[in-house]
Amino acid sequence: MIYTINNFTQVKILPNSLYVFDIDETILTIKYHDSPEYKSILNKNLPIYNNDLKKANIHSFREYMLKDELHIPIPLDNDNFFNLINKIRFNNSKLIFLTARDSSLKKQTINHLEKIGLFINPDIIFFNDNKGDELLNIVNNIYKNNKLLNLKNIIFVDDVFLNLSDVQSKFCFSNYHLHLYLIKHNFF
Ligand SMILES: [Mg+2]
Repeated sequence: MIYTINNFTQVKILPNSLYVFDIDETILTIKYHDSPEYKSILNKNLPIYNNDLKKANIHSFREYMLKDELHIPIPLDNDNFFNLINKIRFNNSKLIFLTARDSSLKKQTINHLEKIGLFINPDIIFFNDNKGDELLNIVNNIYKNNKLLNLKNIIFVDDVFLNLSDVQSKFCFSNYHLHLYLIKHNFF
């Protein structure tokens, strides 16, 4: 079951849980779509990626980000988000970020998170556009048996339905209780 929410107060607070947040359009936005510079990069890349808009967007975003580190991220629902992550931290649960951004954007991503006031260990940011596979890998190889002994719930918040359904299908044989939230901020 995938729940649609429009702010972070609607995310359940549970113990022994792994909270996974997407970054772009989930906790912050960089209004690159409207920029003429971005549009020209995308138009250049579309034929290179056989008009596959998803792939062209991912590569164009990376190119745009590498060109200029001065983009200003706009936080989305920041007060409720910080309230939520404080509760997660005090509730024996863990917090990670899972973004479709390319891993070459690690430095810019840390910078963007810091600009919205989020100072975190960079090791909890994971980069992969195959979110289901990546999350399965994280849970199986990194968190299981060492950092999250009693992991029961996985809470995943993303603004893209396909990412949520991908995670849902990859975890269908696991014993974890999945809580999937499609976040649609009222700003859009
Ligand atoms: Mg997103």
